[in-house]
Amino acid sequence: MASSITIDSVEAFILDVPTIRPHVLSVATMRSQAMVIVRLVCSDGVEGIGEGTTIGGLSYGAESPEGIKLAVDTYFAPVLTGADATRPAAIMARLRREIAANHFARNAVETALLDAQGKRLGVPVSELLGGRVRDRLPVLWTLASGDTARDIEEAEAMLASRRHDAFKLKIGKRPLEADVAHAAAIKKALGDRASVRVDVNQAWSEVTAKRGLAMLADAGVDLVEQPIRASSLSGMARLTAMGRLAVMADEALYGPETGFAYAAAGAADVFAIKIAQAGGLTAARGLAAIAEAAGVALYGGTMLEGGVGTVASAQLFATFADLAFGTELFGPLLLTEEVLAQPLDYSDYSLAVPDGPGLGIALNPDAVAAFRRDAPARTTVLLSGQAKG
Ligand SMILES: [Mg+2]
Repeated sequence: MASSITIDSVEAFILDVPTIRPHVLSVATMRSQAMVIVRLVCSDGVEGIGEGTTIGGLSYGAESPEGIKLAVDTYFAPVLTGADATRPAAIMARLRREIAANHFARNAVETALLDAQGKRLGVPVSELLGGRVRDRLPVLWTLASGDTARDIEEAEAMLASRRHDAFKLKIGKRPLEADVAHAAAIKKALGDRASVRVDVNQAWSEVTAKRGLAMLADAGVDLVEQPIRASSLSGMARLTAMGRLAVMADEALYGPETGFAYAAAGAADVFAIKIAQAGGLTAARGLAAIAEAAGVALYGGTMLEGGVGTVASAQLFATFADLAFGTELFGPLLLTEEVLAQPLDYSDYSLAVPDGPGLGIALNPDAVAAFRRDAPARTTVLLSGQAKG
């Protein structure tokens, strides 16, 4: 039954929050994270928030924070304004017809719609997505300083505080031998106390990957993520068929259609499910269903979102019956400042999925004011930070 509750206003703004250390990937080195927050206000007074965040501006994919804000302000907002707020699926169907691509922006909008609808109905977003099978999610940590001794020290501290017992190394920037030596030294130091995986972010050729997979398997590494370029379906299938090391597809998976092609080609053992990359929570759920049907294992991925995007992801991942490789929902831990009113509970190697209505979180207004890119004081802070080098 259609309601008279409509969306009154839509706002998108960028928050720039510094990271606790340089985060080194094969494609970029991040020193701060820019997150786009979408906020919509409905005629019944209910508000919904969502997040669109990329890795290193435009270095990872086709969408940038600035582009996401532009797309929401110019193209999504006019469709949303005046629409029936109680029918997120109908709104998303209309957005699919009228706006192509723009997966990150689309995901931020769907998150905000589901947050508002969950609050309206008094249930967590997970219950709108089929319901939870778990309340906590295992969370790994990425060791990305690039320095072996420093990474081992960091991993030991994480094990001692029971925050993480699985670690991902970002490799692919240095020669293969140097990267394998780095991974092997870390695995040797941590032994059976931790799982060690690597993410190449498409940096290798297939020839390098064939050697790399064998060497990493011998070193005790558990999994390799997107070793070669995502477009090489047949190459990924050959690496998966080697059977030396579990192969995960990540950058390749832009929603259910690409997931179907990957599953049909046998091009991965594991899918990294990312709500933004898939084009929203419902699309990500469809991608996970394809994986389950094809016997492909699931892993909960991140775009290094802040608290809002992390919780949106967690609400979906909590509905997955089998999450064999855990998640990497550590984005908020990479930031120096908390943007949520209540920090998330990271303990016992896992994240507690908030159980309040909607996403079950709220933004901290002081943090929003301090980190908004368009805040008057912000320019001064950035410039003085740069002057210090
Ligand atoms: Mg990855």
